[in-house]
Amino acid sequence: MTKGTTLTAQRTNTRGPFLEGTTVVVLGFRRSGRAAAALLQEVGAKVRVSDSSPLDDLGLSAADVPGGVAWLGGADPGVLQGADLVVVSPGVPPANPLLRAALDRGIPVRSELELGWWFTDAPTVAITGTNGKTTTTELLGAMGRAAGRSTLVAGNVGTPLSSAVDAPPELIVLEVSSFQLFLCEDFRPHVGAILNLTTDHLDWHPDFEHYAAAKRKLFERQEPQDAAVLNLVDPEVTARFRDLPGEVFGFRESPAPDRGAFIRDERLTLRLDGDPEPVLALSEWSLPGRHNRENLLAAALCARLIGLDDDAIRNGARSFRGLPHRMEIVEHASGVHWINDSKSTNPGSLEKALDPDLDTLLIAGGVTKGCDFRAIRDAVERGTTEVLLIGEGAAEMAAAWRSATRTEIVGDLGTAVRVAHERVRPGQRVLFSPGCASFDQFDNYVHRGDTFRELVRRIHRKDSLSSKGGDA
Ligand code: ADP
Repeated sequence: MTKGTTLTAQRTNTRGPFLEGTTVVVLGFRRSGRAAAALLQEVGAKVRVSDSSPLDDLGLSAADVPGGVAWLGGADPGVLQGADLVVVSPGVPPANPLLRAALDRGIPVRSELELGWWFTDAPTVAITGTNGKTTTTELLGAMGRAAGRSTLVAGNVGTPLSSAVDAPPELIVLEVSSFQLFLCEDFRPHVGAILNLTTDHLDWHPDFEHYAAAKRKLFERQEPQDAAVLNLVDPEVTARFRDLPGEVFGFRESPAPDRGAFIRDERLTLRLDGDPEPVLALSEWSLPGRHNRENLLAAALCARLIGLDDDAIRNGARSFRGLPHRMEIVEHASGVHWINDSKSTNPGSLEKALDPDLDTLLIAGGVTKGCDFRAIRDAVERGTTEVLLIGEGAAEMAAAWRSATRTEIVGDLGTAVRVAHERVRPGQRVLFSPGCASFDQFDNYVHRGDTFRELVRRIHRKDSLSSKGGDA
């Protein structure tokens, strides 16, 4: 940055002199990094990019690096020489040496989300929380589209906000992670929502306090005309998200909050200033579970606060069918439901997947990310008959739950599916809700869920072939 210039938030598009002539280093050169580099170049910054993977591994070649952008490869600290700003892609881990060096040297470091934010001025809703972000964000996106507004769903869900600058939408719905928030100073959504706050990512954040403080940054830059939407039944949210600068609204099934979303007479109901207004009969909502009702309440409240009408909320919710890898029924055979919940990557999401009224054989395990699985011991006791454990965290999880249920370490997912198939009885369900990250055995949660789905289908195809053979 030229001397005397500071990074300040602007509500309007700041193309032009703002970053013009400055030297900006972009860390990470996948989708977000590439969008950031393109935007920075457009506004006249001198752009350097760096990624710990070689271009080949990113599926790129030198020809994919735009002219004028300097590709500086891996972790050479020289890349930071003379940098005015470092922009960080969401996938860059906190231990990345260049990120650490930039922070140590006091160079301004911001997430790609913040860069995109500097250059967009459409009405923006941002959703964070430990679990339910993608579901709620996509649901709200569906409500925006149902209202006929051009709606961009972006952020942690895939499309980088930096790529939205050229064709501004009428509504932006952002999924926002703690990592992105940690590296924001100016980000100020018109409506911000926190869905819940339970333990996760303690391999990234030094402790829970740090994680919670990053989440709180969603609201800290808000002004009185902005809205903060809080889960009123989450103890960590209600304890920590006090004294916010924006106007506070809440959601919970019951009792009805003074201002917010709730359920009355089996209907999603909103009350902002006036009388309660019933908006949607719950019979029209197809996603299972209390947690998905919370997501619905949060999305509907955000929708109303950003100006969508009842019809849009209703039509968006009616049309929404949920997302793969979240409590997805992949097979129903011989009286057994097989459920793929591969997106369950922490104890909080696993806890929500358990139901004391259902007889469940659980498959769980993977990378524990420092989470304490003893915290959900009682839910495991009430909600499972047996647990098959896979991956790196299996022994730790077995130790946490041994006194609660029958646990067995089976190692890998193929073995778990085979053992489950041998043991499961009609009327039970097989739930694959790992409660852990996947990268010890899989590329990501999608790869893990696809693998589970394929293993389950294969084993049932074999069953049906052998029963046909038997009949012949
Ligand atoms: P995120 O984007 O925060 O990871 P997803 O919508 O992708 O959230 O869901 C991740 C996991 O959390 C899935 O296992 C899903 O069933 C579970 N889940 C969804 N909504 C909630 C919620 N409100 N509270 C707890 N768990 C939830």
